[in-house]
Amino acid sequence: MLEKFTPNVEQAIDDIYIKVTPNIAWYIYNDKEDFKCIERLCDQIESDIKRHVDNIDSTEIIIESHNVCIYCGNTPDEDNDTGKPWCCNKAQQDYNKVMMLKEQL
Ligand SMILES: [Zn+2]
Repeated sequence: MLEKFTPNVEQAIDDIYIKVTPNIAWYIYNDKEDFKCIERLCDQIESDIKRHVDNIDSTEIIIESHNVCIYCGNTPDEDNDTGKPWCCNKAQQDYNKVMMLKEQL
């Protein structure tokens, strides 16, 4: 029986960065006003880093987000064929209203 070949490898660096996580425990993530406050906080932290820390080539504020239902706050998983949301009754009512309007056109 043949042994599986294991190639000789070494580590090649693709990217190096330091992740800074702001303290946003007091904010509501999905509130638009709080979101603006969080953006301002990140801008302030970024400028503080640039002012106080040497050897910084660049900084970048990255906000990762995903869609949530405006009624229940859950991810609005939807039926692949119809697009009907599964998360809550209100989202389904919106879907039904839109589909009834489309049928009338
Ligand atoms: Zn919902």
